[in-house]
Amino acid sequence: MKTKFAVVEGKRREAQPGLSGKCPLCDDAMIAKCGQFRVWHWAHRGTLTCDRWWEPETEWHRAWKNQFPEGWQETTHQSEDGEKHIADVKTESGVVLEFQHSRLSRDERESREIFYPKMVWVVDGQGRAGDRAQFFAALDAAIVFNREPLIVSVPSNEGALLRDWTSGSPFCGYFIPVARTAGRI
Ligand SMILES: [Zn+2]
Repeated sequence: MKTKFAVVEGKRREAQPGLSGKCPLCDDAMIAKCGQFRVWHWAHRGTLTCDRWWEPETEWHRAWKNQFPEGWQETTHQSEDGEKHIADVKTESGVVLEFQHSRLSRDERESREIFYPKMVWVVDGQGRAGDRAQFFAALDAAIVFNREPLIVSVPSNEGALLRDWTSGSPFCGYFIPVARTAGRI
């Protein structure tokens, strides 16, 4: 499991050469990985993943997290029954943002929507060839709810991307198309 932050002497710190830290979720040791090619990050020893919901940290994730205050990034959220996960971003008002780069099954998606009382998905809509074109074609048929920022409701059966992210969920009826996502179009 790779994260941006670990706990070093009681404080959240980014990875630096020579630092050792602890996982904010399970308290196990984490190693600072400060290589030449990958973005600096923390990792558990071996392949331990204490949060099974955690996606492998990519530059896409990191760029999105960095759009928000540091204190909001990688925030541990605990449910009343004690289950804990690290949210990509949790705002001061308790809204969780999850940045999803890879595909997610409907069950997996719904388990997060149940766990986080208020949440928004930010999805990388360029995973498959054609997703982007289908998405923007669907926008032509969209109902505009708000102009600034642009919030629309689109037909959910238009294209594989929208089908993936709307099936069965009452939470995903609205989309805020982001034209420029962390440096990529
Ligand atoms: Zn851990």
